[in-house]
Amino acid sequence: MRSDDNIRYIKGVGEKRAELFYQLGVESVGALLRHYPRGYIDRSHPLKLREAPFDRPCCIKAKVFSEVREIYVRHKMVIYKFFANDGEENVEITLFNQKWVAEKLEFGKEFLFYGLVNRTLLSCEMSAPEIYDVSEQNVCPIYPQTAGLNSKAISKVIKTVLEQYIPLDPLPEALRQKYGLVSLKEALFGIHFPTSMKQLENARRRLVFEELFFLQTGILFQKSSRSSYTPVRITDRALDEFKSLLPFNLTEAQALAVNECLKDMNSGRPMSRLVQGDVGSGKTAVAAALAFCAARDGWQTVIMAPTEVLAGQHFKTFQNLLQNSGIKAVLLTGSVTKANKARIKEAVLNGEYDIVIGTHAVLQEDVRFKRLGLIVTDEQHRFGVEQRTSLTSKGNEPHMLVMSATPIPRTMSLIFYGDLDISIIGTLPKGRQPIKTYLIDSSIRKRSYNYIRDHLDQGRQGYIVCPMVEESETTDLASAVKYYEDIKENDFKGYSVGLLHGKMKPKEKDAVMKAFASGEIQLLVSTTVIEVGIDVPNAVIMLIENAERFGLSQLHQLRGRIGRGEHASTCILLSDRKGNETRQRLKFMCSTTDGFKVADEDLRLRGPGDFLGKRQHGLPELKIADLSEDMELFRAAGNAAKELYSTDPHLRKPENECLRQEIATLFKTAKMYGYN
Ligand code: ADP
Ligand code: MG
Repeated sequence: MRSDDNIRYIKGVGEKRAELFYQLGVESVGALLRHYPRGYIDRSHPLKLREAPFDRPCCIKAKVFSEVREIYVRHKMVIYKFFANDGEENVEITLFNQKWVAEKLEFGKEFLFYGLVNRTLLSCEMSAPEIYDVSEQNVCPIYPQTAGLNSKAISKVIKTVLEQYIPLDPLPEALRQKYGLVSLKEALFGIHFPTSMKQLENARRRLVFEELFFLQTGILFQKSSRSSYTPVRITDRALDEFKSLLPFNLTEAQALAVNECLKDMNSGRPMSRLVQGDVGSGKTAVAAALAFCAARDGWQTVIMAPTEVLAGQHFKTFQNLLQNSGIKAVLLTGSVTKANKARIKEAVLNGEYDIVIGTHAVLQEDVRFKRLGLIVTDEQHRFGVEQRTSLTSKGNEPHMLVMSATPIPRTMSLIFYGDLDISIIGTLPKGRQPIKTYLIDSSIRKRSYNYIRDHLDQGRQGYIVCPMVEESETTDLASAVKYYEDIKENDFKGYSVGLLHGKMKPKEKDAVMKAFASGEIQLLVSTTVIEVGIDVPNAVIMLIENAERFGLSQLHQLRGRIGRGEHASTCILLSDRKGNETRQRLKFMCSTTDGFKVADEDLRLRGPGDFLGKRQHGLPELKIADLSEDMELFRAAGNAAKELYSTDPHLRKPENECLRQEIATLFKTAKMYGYN
């Protein structure tokens, strides 16, 4: 038998069953062995009745202590009742229709009863427990199953395989010893047929380690396989000139990030760097500094933004900065007319523009450059890895900078951006006042309107966000529009109120954003299109309606639109949802403005799968590791990956051969190791 054998050749499987296994995503013997249980019923340590938890099933070991009474309720409905005794007390057990079970229940014989123990002052009973022989006093796996293929059947097939075949252990002996990991054989038996929770724990530990080790090793080798040469050299020659054009001084953190990037960009190797900084930390200025230096050294830069509004805003920022510098920027988005597009593209190819700013329209269309030196993608979490790499083909090994607010925890970023070097802008520009956040319900909505009006009267601006989680939800759209029309005529009569939503034409959006940025619009009613990147420092107040409909990271992004200037800012979360969980989540928002904390909490609440979006990160799926809980193993596995890389950078040692193959299959390409 081999790992890549199809499962239909396993004894007792055959065509029909194989189909069912395929439905579970299990096609090969190897995949079958890695089809881990999703949970276990622990029958290994039966409890006494008095120890039984009141809220969940457990396993009791007891002797049949009475005759089994048969009660005929009606046609074809029989109830069996009997007492069992655990050595301390009696429990009354009821079974429904299970004649074959009832027949086994000899007086005095001991069994395991798995179920919920119901206890009142006067009685102790179990209704329809599962009944097992004492020989089955073990930990029983529950598999992801499908109709026609239950846990028991799956377990049996796995047993058949494990009796005759154990795959080679991809973790070298020395590594296992160092990290205290059991062998693959022990792990597979332990995870599929545990005899105790301890054995299960050891098995799980080994398999989680292995998974995180493969993942991090793969990423590490991918990183090291990055091209090692680029003709693009960008120096810091023009940096002082850029600083003199900037209306403020770069913060230390910004300057550091700029320097790290410039160092990379003048190293002769292509840069792949992530600049991570909380909303409002000033990432745009970092990108601008680099694009400026690139331009002065004769290289073009392309800057990609996830939305048209944001691209437009970046373009404006750049235009202001570059006014008298002779460096030319151009905006290229989906809404540029065909004729203009053709003209711009030609000019880009001729090198007339130094900086091209746009949405992914830039990426999808056939834009070509004369001397592309730097690619910047803003708010990267919106783009997948593939989009990232498809851009690099537009130049001759250009440098790549990815900018992201911090909507993901550090560990996640290691995975999501594992192939990148990371710079962190850890501080906000000076003089920012922390945003105060409050949670209210609609009974005091009017008071919050008063509060907003006070601020507008003082010359400030504000946002009201209506939830439109999917921009396609037409009913939400209708309600946002209605909301806008209503407050414009009533509570905010006499004020200048604007509306912004995703269904508007780019031109309209643009006009609204311009009017808001210039202060002409005082209060902007908006859907989540403002979530990303919008920068109007005079906006200091935000009311978020139906706040419960947003995730924590999204709320953080929204809130990041205020608190960007010298004035104190306030965010009001409005929700009538009374549920405990919702309350806690929203109260958490009131307790911190730290993006990392928000991201961690969000991950904890939503789990990693949801967090990363299914497989859009282009990395192998995690089958057993849980990133919110297995942090320690994650770190240990990361260290092991680095050690491996330093001792065998090409995985050529014979003891690592099996490992190399596993990782290559996992990452679907063996090419990254430079051979095959
Ligand atoms: P983000 O990191 O969220 O993209 P932005 O680049 O939009 O943040 O910057 C947020 C605001 O901070 C902008 O108004 C920008 O002009 C301002 N800003 C950036 N850097 C500094 C600085 N060093 N000093 C003062 N203000 C700054
Ligand atoms: Mg930004």
